[in-house]
Amino acid sequence: MKLLFCLFLITAISFSQKKYHIATMDEIAEQYVRLILDIGQHDPDYVDAYYGPKEWQEASKKMKQQLTALNDRTDAVITRLKRIRISKKDVALSLRKTYLLKQLSAASAKIGMLMGKKYSFDDEARKLYDASPPTFSESHFNSILSGLSTVLPSGPGTVNERYQRFRNQFVIPKEKLETVFQAAINECRRRTREYITLPVNESFVVEYVNNKPWSGYNWYKGNAHSVIQVNTDLPIFIDRAVDLAAHEGYPGHHVYNVLLESELLKKNGWIEFCIYPLFSPQSLIAEGSANYGIDVVLPNAERMAFERNVLFPLAGLDPAQVEQYYTVQSLFGKLAYAGNEAARGYLNGTLNKEQAVHWLTTYALFDSARAEQRIKFIEKYRSYVINYNLGQDLVRAYVEKKSGKNFSAEKRWSVFYGLISSPRLPGGLK
Ligand SMILES: [Zn+2]
Repeated sequence: MKLLFCLFLITAISFSQKKYHIATMDEIAEQYVRLILDIGQHDPDYVDAYYGPKEWQEASKKMKQQLTALNDRTDAVITRLKRIRISKKDVALSLRKTYLLKQLSAASAKIGMLMGKKYSFDDEARKLYDASPPTFSESHFNSILSGLSTVLPSGPGTVNERYQRFRNQFVIPKEKLETVFQAAINECRRRTREYITLPVNESFVVEYVNNKPWSGYNWYKGNAHSVIQVNTDLPIFIDRAVDLAAHEGYPGHHVYNVLLESELLKKNGWIEFCIYPLFSPQSLIAEGSANYGIDVVLPNAERMAFERNVLFPLAGLDPAQVEQYYTVQSLFGKLAYAGNEAARGYLNGTLNKEQAVHWLTTYALFDSARAEQRIKFIEKYRSYVINYNLGQDLVRAYVEKKSGKNFSAEKRWSVFYGLISSPRLPGGLK
């Protein structure tokens, strides 16, 4: 009897201690948001979007906590989070816990970098984006280039020179940019709305800007509203109309953010979704789904028809050239990983600036102005470059596998919707 009583007492004490010590997921989520805000005080690019309580933001600005203290706080939050037990059967809560763990682990790596820690390109990509970028050699790109050479109009010069000469025929005249973009946005919005219910008040504005290292950017403002900026430093080619409308808008960044806000923050009350730290695994899903979303919203045959019947005429371009232009562009797209190789070499110090530019012009077929812009992007955003191409490939593989063989448009949209309205991160794309 005595023993039984002791056991009861011990259990009761340990239970009450556990109750006292173990934080709830909502408490951890708040600590996460405040931590991200505080890290953001050390890097203005870190907090990409915030639409949580104003007083948290103000408190963070006032305090400007030291990096060593932030490092300790991150470790402590991770330890507290690990103590929370979730049944594997509860898929939503398991995803939420994994999301917070991965995002916090990336935050810890980011603090390390701000404190001066140096990672190789691949280590940085793994730590910040939860993914390992593949490596490709020159011969891989050379074989794509020789394929490209056969579909480009013949003529003198290197493949790059021939490509630039061909592509320059497809610039959208500046005075027609707005009309062409608006038509692409309307089409992508109409199609997305057929499959995804969006809040009635969702909207965005498009602004034309200069002197940026990127070509387009979505700034999510909360309450289903985005500001999309288009950089007009360099000529804009016709393929960018659909790419930008889908990538930045429907069903890309704008829709992803709208869904995270409406489904996870508002419906579930998950406060961690009032903030988006740019250098985190969430970015691989954001960029990957935004790029793959172009195919989802306008599958190839439908896109060709839309380009031929609507966008080319609006831009004053010859619709008879649609097929050849997109045959060339699809091979050009396969060279995207060459940009990662340039970034890897440049950031690891095995390529100097001039050699990195050479990689971009020879294997990614950038013209020299675009290669300069890309170098600025790499200097500022570093291994973030993997999120576009590797992100797209991982999202594509996940969505198409889950959609099954010979999937219908409905099925693909439904899997895609499931991904962009959940806390799923790169490690969960299996
Ligand atoms: Zn993007």
